[in-house]
Amino acid sequence: MFPFRYERGRDVADVVAAAARDRSAEFLAGGTDMLQLLKDDVCRPGRIIDVTRLPDLDRIEYGGQGLRFGALVKMSDAADHPEVRLNYPVIAEALLASASPQIRNMATIGGNLLQRTRCVYFRDHGTACNKREPGSGCAALHGENRLHAVLGGSDHCIATHASDLAVALVALDAVVVTARAGGGRRIPLEEFHLLPGDTPERETVLEPAELIVAVEVPPLAFASRSHYLKVRDRASFEFALVSAAVAADIEDGVIRAVRIALGGVGTKPWRAREAERVLTGQPANPASFERAAAQALAGARPAERNGFKIPLAQRILVRALSHLKA
Ligand code: SF4
Repeated sequence: MFPFRYERGRDVADVVAAAARDRSAEFLAGGTDMLQLLKDDVCRPGRIIDVTRLPDLDRIEYGGQGLRFGALVKMSDAADHPEVRLNYPVIAEALLASASPQIRNMATIGGNLLQRTRCVYFRDHGTACNKREPGSGCAALHGENRLHAVLGGSDHCIATHASDLAVALVALDAVVVTARAGGGRRIPLEEFHLLPGDTPERETVLEPAELIVAVEVPPLAFASRSHYLKVRDRASFEFALVSAAVAADIEDGVIRAVRIALGGVGTKPWRAREAERVLTGQPANPASFERAAAQALAGARPAERNGFKIPLAQRILVRALSHLKA
C-alpha cells in the first residue's frame, strides 16, 4: 500500500468539483474491486473521494419511463426488487449469478460497470501487461489465455470484461447517466466500454472526475420474457466462462423482436446485433436459434487455449433462447 488522502463529499456537485481539482483522485463506492486494486498496487490514486454517503443515489425507481437505478444501489437490493424481478428478470438473474451474497451486499450498480478485468497478469507485477503498464506487452497473448476473449481483442489485449450485470443491461439498451464539472451526460451502455485497440488501459469513455450517478433501462414490454444464463468453472463466486442475456417478443411461434448479448467472450459486454437480425421474423425453434448462435460468434478469434468458448457460447445462447420459448 501507499499513502493517499481520504475524504467524503456532501453531494454530487461537491465530489465532482473535488475530483476535478485533483487529477490523481478516484471515487470510492462499495470498494469490492477498488480495495483489491489498491492492495495489489494496480491503482495508485493520490486522493480517494468516498461517495458512499451521497444523498439520493441509492434509489430504485420504476414507472412509465422504465427502470432507474441510482449508482449506489447495492447489487443485492436490485436483485431483490419486485419490479426488477417481474419486469426485467434478466437483470435479477445476472445479479444473482454474480460474485457472492456478501459482495452483492456491498457492491454497487455503478461500481459493477467499472470493475477491472480478472486477467491474472493484470494484477501480477512480474509479468507484462499493457493494461496495467502501457507498452509493456501482453503476457496473455501466448500465455494462460483459457479465460480470455474471443471477440473484440487486439494484438495489445484480449482480456474479458468481468461484469454479468453489464451483459444484461447492454441487451436492454441501458443508459449510463453521469455528472461532471462541465455538465453531465447520458451515455448508451453499448458505447460506454471501449475495445482495447492499442490503448487497453482506457476501458470506458468516462473522463477524469466524471461520476456515474444512475443507470437507466428504457421500457421494453418483452423484457419480462428475458433470461440470463451463465456457465462458470464452479457453481458460485466465479466469473463467466461464457454467458448469454436474451429477451424476445414471440407471437404465434414467430420471433417479432429479440435482444441478445454475450458475456465471458468479449473484451466488453458484447451485443450480438447481427444475431438479432438473423433471428427476427423467424420461427422460434432450435434451427433458428442455432443459426443466430453461429452468427453471434462468426467473428470470433480464439487464442491458443480458449477455442472451446466458441461452441460453448453457441450452445449457451441456444439454450437461453430455448428457455424463452418454453
Ligand atoms: Fe494485460 Fe490485457 Fe494482456 Fe491481460 S490480456 S495481460 S489485461 S494486456
